[in-house]
Amino acid sequence: MLLLLAVVLGGCVTTAQPHAPPPTPRLDAVVQAGFVVPERPTASPGRDLTQHLESYKVGGATADVVLASIAVRSPVRNDDGSKASDAFAAWSMRWFPDLQSDGAECSVADVRVTLDVTITTWAWRPSPAVPPNERRRIERMGETLLAHEREHETISVLGALDVIDALRGMRGRDCDQVRTAANATGQQVLDRIREVNAALDVATQHGPVAAPGLRRGD
Ligand SMILES: [Zn+2]
Repeated sequence: MLLLLAVVLGGCVTTAQPHAPPPTPRLDAVVQAGFVVPERPTASPGRDLTQHLESYKVGGATADVVLASIAVRSPVRNDDGSKASDAFAAWSMRWFPDLQSDGAECSVADVRVTLDVTITTWAWRPSPAVPPNERRRIERMGETLLAHEREHETISVLGALDVIDALRGMRGRDCDQVRTAANATGQQVLDRIREVNAALDVATQHGPVAAPGLRRGD
């Protein structure tokens, strides 16, 4: 489950002329790979990533009791008060194009993108009375869920890099036009992030099912 809490748009951009998209946007590559999410890219120029991991406590000595505890304590609720999801990844992104004008035209010389991601999931501390096999089972549930939220996080990171690629080099007659066009292009990438995240949830049933690109016999 991905819950988009806040997408804050900063100084933005786009071009007055038709703009050729980069050859292979990273988000498209994820879809083409059957939602096999790659390793999160390491630090790259122009991208500032801030990550947070928050948790809420659950209890129980068996998996069933832990699941019931999650249902009661998860902070993600539906309007009727029922649990909406066990975990979520919230993100916000801003982009800051460096506009430079030479008098004849204006262009995006460089782009900086800031991305903040907060993953919230449950935390469980077993008591000594919990049998080892049950303990392992519950821990595996938590690991699977966190790995899924990390995939959402990676998708937003890939989207940030796609924003940089899409905006860098945009040009137009004046900087206002370029700024407006760059903003529209950035918004399109944000929409794509939402689409890919939603499609990941469908393809993996929010994590427990292997991505189509990993399944055998398909
Ligand atoms: Zn999800």
